Amino acid sequence: MESKTLDPKIQLAVERYKALEEKIAHFVMIGGLLEWDQKVTAPKKGRGIFAKAIGTFRTEEFKLSISQEMGELLHTLSADNVYEQLDEITQAQIRERSEEYNRSRKIPEEMYRDYVVLTAKANDAWEEARETNNFSVFQPFLEKIVDYNRKVAEIYGYEQHPYDALLHQYEPGLSVAVLDPLFAKLRETSVALLERIKKSGSKPSNEIFEQDYDVEQQKKFNTYFLPIIGFDMQAGRLDETVHPFAQTMNTGDVRITTRYLKDNVRSAVFGTIHEAGHGIYEQNIDPRLEGTALSTGASFGIHESQSRFLENMVGRSEQFWTFFYPKIQEHFPQQLGHVSQQDFYRAVNTVEPTMIRVEADELTYNLHIMLRYEIEKAVIGGEIEVKDLPMIWNQKMQEYLGITPATDTEGVLQDVHWSFGGFGYFPSYSLGNLYAAQLLNTIVRELPGFYSDIEAGNFASIQAWLKENVHRYGKLYTPEQLIRKVTGEDLKADYLVNYLEEKYSRIYNL
Ligand code: ZN
Repeated sequence: MESKTLDPKIQLAVERYKALEEKIAHFVMIGGLLEWDQKVTAPKKGRGIFAKAIGTFRTEEFKLSISQEMGELLHTLSADNVYEQLDEITQAQIRERSEEYNRSRKIPEEMYRDYVVLTAKANDAWEEARETNNFSVFQPFLEKIVDYNRKVAEIYGYEQHPYDALLHQYEPGLSVAVLDPLFAKLRETSVALLERIKKSGSKPSNEIFEQDYDVEQQKKFNTYFLPIIGFDMQAGRLDETVHPFAQTMNTGDVRITTRYLKDNVRSAVFGTIHEAGHGIYEQNIDPRLEGTALSTGASFGIHESQSRFLENMVGRSEQFWTFFYPKIQEHFPQQLGHVSQQDFYRAVNTVEPTMIRVEADELTYNLHIMLRYEIEKAVIGGEIEVKDLPMIWNQKMQEYLGITPATDTEGVLQDVHWSFGGFGYFPSYSLGNLYAAQLLNTIVRELPGFYSDIEAGNFASIQAWLKENVHRYGKLYTPEQLIRKVTGEDLKADYLVNYLEEKYSRIYNL
């Protein structure tokens, strides 16, 4: 791109703006490090006090982003005749920042402060409700959280459905009108496929996983494959936590975690691959975006597409285990020495309806999301009431998965998201699957050696493709622009629907 000569006054504003953005990026980086430390290494007893300090730190960061200086700079730089002279990266920065700035300024300070207090209390109530299997403990808090989110939707504004305003926070540009037909198709075909699987009578055995897998050996296996699949250990690390996550300090320092369960070797393996997908994305972002708010994923959904692409499309493929199965057998000769690769492959792809979303397989997972999406949309739209959620939850579980939770703890109370007010978040998970399948369709066309590379344990060309087409752009493009740029079309449900159909027809001989 040509660098244009700007008017000295505008040039000065750009420099001041970029310096301010870099300062915010530094706050974000240090804040992230503090949060990582809280989750990974900090001793339990000090965490409460530490959390307060992090709150103070985050407030300073927030103040910079809504400061008068920021307002003035954004005002100057987003004027039409100025904006059009700026380079692509600066334009995207201003697009992102202006949106956040405008959103933050719209919520009255007192309303927001009350909400922070409310969600803190709601989290405690949610935990208590779960422990005592008593939804009514959580209900009044959830009602207030829903009220707040409805108000926020009105304040932010939307074209058709109030839920659009909430979706937009996680998936910019997405709306109910776009999502409804995508999800409806995915839901209907998934329910039908699940029926056929159930009727097939074929049931891959899970027994091989019901044995003890030494945790030290698990660690060895995970640290062995992690760099092979493309995670740069010179630009990241792997630690252990109860809830696996990925956290980026900068493109040269991306930290992921996994969890080792003695009686479940799959949990760590697929957890590590999943988080590696998030991590590799961030390691591969163009260094020119460093120090800006663009040095992250395009959206929650696109981020999730990268973790699920690696975990499911790559990590649960037959070819992946052609390469890695002998290696995992070497680590666990007693447990797996006598098990064929085919049996292992089928076992990591078992489909079985379960109550708990996070334990669900590739097919039924999306049905858990459909249920949550429909409930969120209806409760924000005022069509259903919070008090009826346990009943509606159970009805939908029965309708989509054919099982009914025995308790609310394993039903409507299972996820933390509503306690922090994360309405609009859940769809990202299934969007990730949809994006991943559409990307798979493109990558196998452009890299005919896709599966033979996986089979040979060669992930370089695949990662190079992802870097070139997705990763390096960070948040430069909106998810809509990005997916169109890479795949040549808008998001469609067909790719995931076909992928699931083909995969499970083979595994279950349908
Ligand atoms: Zn994820």
